[in-house]
Amino acid sequence: MPSLYIDGEWVASADGTCDRVINPSDASVVAEVDVATDDQVRAAIAAARRAFDATDWPRTPTSERAALLDRVADLIDRDLESMARLETLNTGKAMRESRWDMGDVARVFRYYADLADKDAGRLVDTGNPDAISRIVYEPIGACALIGPWNYPLLQLSWKIAPALAAGNTAVMKPAHLTPLTAIHLTKLLAEAGVPRGVVNLVLGEGARVGQLLADSPDVDLISLTGGLEAGRRLLHGAAVNLKRVALEMGGKSPNIVFDDADFETVVDNALTAAFIHSGQVCSAGCRAIVQDALYDRFVAEIGRRADRIRLGAGLDDATEAGALISNEHRAKVEAHVAEAVAAGARVVAGGRRPDEPELQAGFYYRPTVIADVDPSMRIIREEVFGPVLTVERFTTEDEAVALANDTTYGLAGAVWTADAGRAQRVAGRLRHGTVWINDYNIYVPQAEWGGFKQSGIGRELGPTGLDEYREPKHIWQNTRPGPTGWFGG
Ligand code: NAD
Repeated sequence: MPSLYIDGEWVASADGTCDRVINPSDASVVAEVDVATDDQVRAAIAAARRAFDATDWPRTPTSERAALLDRVADLIDRDLESMARLETLNTGKAMRESRWDMGDVARVFRYYADLADKDAGRLVDTGNPDAISRIVYEPIGACALIGPWNYPLLQLSWKIAPALAAGNTAVMKPAHLTPLTAIHLTKLLAEAGVPRGVVNLVLGEGARVGQLLADSPDVDLISLTGGLEAGRRLLHGAAVNLKRVALEMGGKSPNIVFDDADFETVVDNALTAAFIHSGQVCSAGCRAIVQDALYDRFVAEIGRRADRIRLGAGLDDATEAGALISNEHRAKVEAHVAEAVAAGARVVAGGRRPDEPELQAGFYYRPTVIADVDPSMRIIREEVFGPVLTVERFTTEDEAVALANDTTYGLAGAVWTADAGRAQRVAGRLRHGTVWINDYNIYVPQAEWGGFKQSGIGRELGPTGLDEYREPKHIWQNTRPGPTGWFGG
């Protein structure tokens, strides 16, 4: 079956180009998908443009759009197991993570279905009895929605659900390494009754297909979740027509541990924060910042526990962490670790590929703990996006905050302490978009998600995640019109 969806039709690549989709667990080919030509990308944009400009879709009653999103959520629940399997085959992540992700995707659709008709705007009190002034919200237009490979469907759902709830049209482009669940979601959107042209799907490399979307004067908004390099290039393209831009970029998230925190709880949660999905998580707690008195014990224990993490294929129920997304990505992670070691850091656990014969074909890397690091090292400053946890040391509360904020990123962070006052103080001082206190990596569709500083522009989820896809319009009516007499003639 063809894998591009343009103007309500499934079509194959116009020049026959296909991409092989690889299972990172064993490097096998799991599917071949069509790659959109430049003309097909333009056709998808034109279809989204037409559906916005020349059909009633943007003005459908919100209750109808909400019902449609609810139907999509029901279909995701129906297909949850097979979609989770697709996500695992394509990303290497453990099935229990993929099931969780798919459940979250359904919840995101339900959340925006519920929110769609909750805020129709507001009346403005102007003090003028002869005027009605009101604010209404309108959709922005044709949106390009570009996703990353680490949470392929979840990240796309944070965009497409609010975009449709607000009445926009869209061209979706998943990361070229991980298109499978986006293809399936597009089938479900069609099955749920999304009108022709309202949602389109194109596949291919970001530097070409993504950039065509960014550069197009017919795209009104572009939302990208990905790395800094893609974000910067996209901003250049967006300048062409001042399109609305939403960027969810990377992170270098601090996980601050005070010595009064419960040791077992902290170590257990720090492991999950750093190594879930093999650290390929934008908000991964990849920088543990640990108070003096606890430092040596923490380093020893987390190293011991990291060494025991069971690597394996995502489909294997015993697997605790899967492979990295590609051989190239693993090479980047390895280079980061090698550079840190050369600069004097100490590898406490991992720092190598696994030995098991059954893991040799996949792109595996052992969960790695690195101590004795210096804040100036590249491994502390740049996103590694792999299973690598560094452990830094602090003495005072001020030092902990300074270390945690000493980054160009600002996506998320956490503080572990038994002192409630200190927890609130530190949370208030962290320059990060999400702060967890005595927890990690929890997010809910009701709460905004996004980054300070170079972790992004704008917010996804929550009511703000819907506002990203709406323009406020002021409508003023004079209910007693008459001459103003401003000019005498
Ligand atoms: P990436 O930047 O390589 O690619 C992301 C998407 O952008 C892909 O679909 C890609 O094809 C596309 N793209 C690449 N160049 C482009 C261009 N010039 N114009 C338009 N589109 C382009 O990122 P990735 O490797 O897929 O994902 C990992 C990155 O995503 C990490 O930095 C991670 O932190 C970040 N991320 C952030 C969040 C968040 O919520 N802030 C969530 C997940 C991932």
